[in-house]
Amino acid sequence: MTPYEQIKKHIDSAMTALFIPAGEAARLMTPDAIHIHDLKVTTEKGEEIFPAFRVQFNNARGPYKGGIRFHPKADEDEVKALAAAMAVKCAVVDIPLGGAKGGVTFDPKEYSKADINSIARAYARAMAPHLGVDTDIPAPDVYTTPEIMAVMLDEYEKVQGRSEPGMITGKPIALGGSKGRGEATAQGGVFILEEFVKEIGRIPTEMRVAIQGFGNAGATMAFLLQNLGYKIVALSDSRGTIYHEDGLDLSIVDSAKREHGSVIAAVDLIGGARGLGSDDVLSIDCDVLIPAALDNQIHIDNVQSIRADIILELANNPVTPEADDILFTKGTTVIPDVLANAGGVTVSYFEWVQNRMQLYWTEEDVKGKLKEKITAAYKDVTLLSRTEKISQRQAAYRLAIARIHEAMKLRGRFE
Ligand code: NAD
Repeated sequence: MTPYEQIKKHIDSAMTALFIPAGEAARLMTPDAIHIHDLKVTTEKGEEIFPAFRVQFNNARGPYKGGIRFHPKADEDEVKALAAAMAVKCAVVDIPLGGAKGGVTFDPKEYSKADINSIARAYARAMAPHLGVDTDIPAPDVYTTPEIMAVMLDEYEKVQGRSEPGMITGKPIALGGSKGRGEATAQGGVFILEEFVKEIGRIPTEMRVAIQGFGNAGATMAFLLQNLGYKIVALSDSRGTIYHEDGLDLSIVDSAKREHGSVIAAVDLIGGARGLGSDDVLSIDCDVLIPAALDNQIHIDNVQSIRADIILELANNPVTPEADDILFTKGTTVIPDVLANAGGVTVSYFEWVQNRMQLYWTEEDVKGKLKEKITAAYKDVTLLSRTEKISQRQAAYRLAIARIHEAMKLRGRFE
């Protein structure tokens, strides 16, 4: 299945359960607009053309919102799928924004910082007519950073001839970025896990956690959970997994990763730690498994080897729909990406609000508001999943699609 076919399956199933008529379902599943441009940029290699996309999926609940990724595999299908997922995510956490996503097809590892900035400026110039604080608000995604957002803001404001900091989020704090944005994705996941663990009557100090991916989201999550007493027994990256049944010293793993480029470099520095293959992290004997790396990691061929009772999806799309059905039947609780990693877009929304007010909040304020928003969303999702006896993913999609459908209906978009 392509990424778009996967998300379409989840949305279609929600629309069937909500008895949305076929014509309305077809309209809801159709992106509002797809903008495709060839960016002509003179790089250090000469004049080159870079395909660039912005998919605006749905704005019935508010301006379009979604990141921009720079990746060799970014294409229309993937960007369309991620734009739909953003619409669902914003509706799950009930923030007044719609869904969009952007992408440029190239490998940033092959380009200098100056070239990457030129590509970012070309993107902002080409897409400027479609973006804006009340229209469509981009943010960072795979291989795009707060610094790239700053350059895009600069280019956009040059084109428009006015200051408009709220047209993009994930900016550096010096340019109106929000405090707490860096940790927001992991922090949102932590608030949800804490709520779930409390509900099932477990004690964090007795819970073992394995995390796939030790980047932004995964490493932050590991530190936050360890501070709350959880035992981090396994961590992985593309080069391998480090495992210790009594828990790992994260500061040693972190400095080894910084110095040598992989968590595996810490194996010889932690007594009793073992090095395993990269994929072995998924089948570790633990209570909570947190995929925080790539999509489609848990699939039909490895789903039976999963031993965790709880999977918290910090990555986007880490479980295929087929594996998801099997996990539900096995009784594994999957806290779905559209809820588990929605802390990032929630604090992006807070950044947009602060930019509009030109009044800035403390980190404590941001954290408190995030906790309130994401915990409320979690409670809505679990209530629906329990009353309807459906998975949390099905409940999250049903809740989100009902909200988007209602907004479209009120606007008369089905007439
Ligand atoms: P990142 O690039 O900082 O980290 C990714 C990590 O995954 C790296 O440690 C990398 O070594 C590891 N990795 C790569 N291939 C791997 C493999 N085969 N096995 C194990 N690990 C592997 O990215 P990130 O920002 O942490 O994002 C991770 C995931 O979380 C992505 O799916 C992203 O879409 C999702 N996400 C992130 C945010 C955010 O705010 N950072 C928000 C929402 C969703």
